[in-house]
Amino acid sequence: MFKSFKSFHTLKLVIEPETSLLIKSGDTPVDPTVPDMAFVRIPTPFGETVYIPGSSLKGVMRSHAAQLLAGVGKDICAISVANGDCGNKVVNGKRVMKIDSGVLRYQHSCHVCRTFGSTALASVVRVADFFPYPYDAPEEEKKKKISEISKMLGFKTGIKIDPKSGTVKSRALYTAEILSGGRFYGELVLKNPEIWQLGLIFKVIEDMNNGVVRLGHMSTRGLGKVKVTIEEVFVETTSSDGIAFTKFNGDFSQEILKVQAKPEIKGFISHYSFKENSLESLKETVYEKTSQALKR
Ligand SMILES: [Zn+2]
Repeated sequence: MFKSFKSFHTLKLVIEPETSLLIKSGDTPVDPTVPDMAFVRIPTPFGETVYIPGSSLKGVMRSHAAQLLAGVGKDICAISVANGDCGNKVVNGKRVMKIDSGVLRYQHSCHVCRTFGSTALASVVRVADFFPYPYDAPEEEKKKKISEISKMLGFKTGIKIDPKSGTVKSRALYTAEILSGGRFYGELVLKNPEIWQLGLIFKVIEDMNNGVVRLGHMSTRGLGKVKVTIEEVFVETTSSDGIAFTKFNGDFSQEILKVQAKPEIKGFISHYSFKENSLESLKETVYEKTSQALKR
């Protein structure tokens, strides 16, 4: 769909649980009476570990982004189309996912599908799995981090309340494995985004920090508040006097965002690194452009 490379944005993130956290494997519906309430684990070369699957993080980001976009008057498929995403919409007798032209598939997709992907579009946002150690840490440190975080796991036992009557269900005790503390490291990458898509991701992360967006299961029981720190936004772009973003206005073009930061590497592909003050200034510029782009 995007014929040419414009920019990749890599957000290096650290996620710290501020309340207890439970992320279960798979997409099985949450039923606290099911005995399988273990925190999701994965084998790694450094031992088996608890982790945050990128799909879990992307899922909560997508649903919150949908609420934000609906809030500024955008028509969002999750809210207005009963069956699946925008790929299933029918335009001129044809399902959007069957349309050959990438421009038209984008045109007929809502802002959420444009950003997080659908049966008709690849996702602009990719979220990696988050592990209890930084990618570049030495092997011994990774093993140590895995062992440290495993000591922060515990069990929470509770009683299932019948949501209709408000009474205790008989024999409805549950035990959930929860994590209290620790840090997870990982990346979120935006490939050739429009400026508002980067702004949207910044806003979703801000709302996670505000506690509006919670991660994992049993969030209504107080679990899943996390602190998300953007350690760095690393940008690779074809422009040498700013960042080249995709711009969609019935067709794809590009828009150069002027930034105060100097590129670390200038050339065929320029590199920018935004941290702390330069990151705050980038956010400000991006937010301003985002609110213009998303105006009703
Ligand atoms: Zn959609």
